Amino acid sequence: MKVTDHFANAEGKTLVSFEVLPPLKGGSMQTIFDILDPLMEFKPPFIDVTYHREEYLYVKRQSGYYEKVAIRKRPGTVGICASLMFHYGVDTVPHLICGGFTKEETENALIDLNFLNITNVLALRGDARQFEDKFVAEEGGHPFAIDLVKQISDMNAGKYLDDTISNGQKTDFCIGVAGYPEKHFEAPNLGLDLEKTKAKIDAGAHYIVTQMFFDNSKYFEYVDKCRAAGITVPIVPGLKPLTRGYQLNSIPRKFFVNMPDDLVKAAEQCKDEAAIKALGIEWCVAQSRELKDAGVPCLHYYTMGDAATTRKIIEQVY
Ligand code: FAD
Repeated sequence: MKVTDHFANAEGKTLVSFEVLPPLKGGSMQTIFDILDPLMEFKPPFIDVTYHREEYLYVKRQSGYYEKVAIRKRPGTVGICASLMFHYGVDTVPHLICGGFTKEETENALIDLNFLNITNVLALRGDARQFEDKFVAEEGGHPFAIDLVKQISDMNAGKYLDDTISNGQKTDFCIGVAGYPEKHFEAPNLGLDLEKTKAKIDAGAHYIVTQMFFDNSKYFEYVDKCRAAGITVPIVPGLKPLTRGYQLNSIPRKFFVNMPDDLVKAAEQCKDEAAIKALGIEWCVAQSRELKDAGVPCLHYYTMGDAATTRKIIEQVY
């Protein structure tokens, strides 16, 4: 079933969903089951699986020289989605990115998803490769998420890249896109970023999932701005708790989001890592409760492989 149908069927009840990462290459599906088994009693209608493009590594060869090699450390997104559907009978949302894909490869991936009866996709651009200072599209690939949304919308209309196909099967993908309550880091300002987000919706996207945030007022203001800009689709808040002290700096650096003063000051008072984790859980519970009371369609948790923490939060919210 489509993500937006789940929202419609919930009739105003706030759902809960999870995002998992594929295991590192060489790992097994059991790693994912171990994360999700303790969380399935909360009945997520869908589970997101992230996509990771190749990274460059420098490998020392016998000659003593270093060779630059491209390695995809976390492959398997599509297979994991199919496996989760089979194992738990749950819907899945594979993330699909522009980076590293030509349009043909994207089309083939979408055909695979369609044949597997996976009807949801989160369409993203992806980030710059390691050691590159800006995102560079694959030759023959898409430069922005909106171009990926357009390609998926075309397939939903039965239009394939090969224009000799006149009677192609119309796919029926529900398309999600990313939104940034505190602005995407490359955008000159939030207003211009919102225009680009609105363009993704106008191109056929059906819902938005936000970047994590630690101050709910950022989310509420963002939703108001989206509505004022004419964006009417569901906007799902993405949540991740603070779990380690170093994240006070690493999360803002990596995800370009602010940590509220009160959270930082409280974390600075913590005597050890266990206290920081307890604070992070308490903070995320408070965020979740307020969002749920406000009637958001779904609370989407970035599990980051930590089922126990995610579970402790949801137990106190549902
Ligand atoms: P876009 O919507 O293309 O926007 C990127 C930037 O370009 C923005 O600054 C926007 O304002 C600007 N822009 C957009 N269109 C245009 C245009 N036509 N002209 C000029 N500027 C434009 N990354 C992964 O690699 N794998 C994942 O699985 C993954 N999952 C994610 C899930 C969520 C919920 C979120 C919020 C992010 C995720 N990311 C993932 C990270 C994401 O790929 C990065 O944030 C990336 O930098 C931007 O992706 P986007 O889809 O928002 O890009």
